[in-house]
Amino acid sequence: MSYDSSNIFAKILRGEIPCKKVYEDDFALAFHDIQPEAPVHVLVVPKGEFVSFNDFAERAKPEFIAGYMAAVQKTSALLGVVENGYRLITNHGADASQSVPHFHVHILGGKQLGKLLP
Ligand code: 5GP
Repeated sequence: MSYDSSNIFAKILRGEIPCKKVYEDDFALAFHDIQPEAPVHVLVVPKGEFVSFNDFAERAKPEFIAGYMAAVQKTSALLGVVENGYRLITNHGADASQSVPHFHVHILGGKQLGKLLP
């Protein structure tokens, strides 16, 4: 699947659509999910054209992957969920119901999240 720059997160990265920003650096932009599924639900979106985790892991440079992972951790710390715990989710493809074709990690927390799948 090739990258389609008309996806909603590409528009947010370009500043064409607003977001509720939590953190930003050279590697990523983190913002609150528009339909939160937990008291804390933030998306960390890399500043690069990657369709999903699979694409990111295959094509991103190691330094970029390291910078992106650090951005996920810094966002988690800013959200205050490190002590009590948080869950990271990333969906790749149809079976995982990925709905936005730009790689992102969900940070979920702020309550006891229970088991992995409903
Ligand atoms: P996926 O299903 O691809 O893993 O997750 C996409 C997420 O993006 C969903 O949780 C959805 O609520 C969120 N989302 C979709 N459109 C927007 C938007 O325009 N703004 C924000 N902040 N989140 C969005």
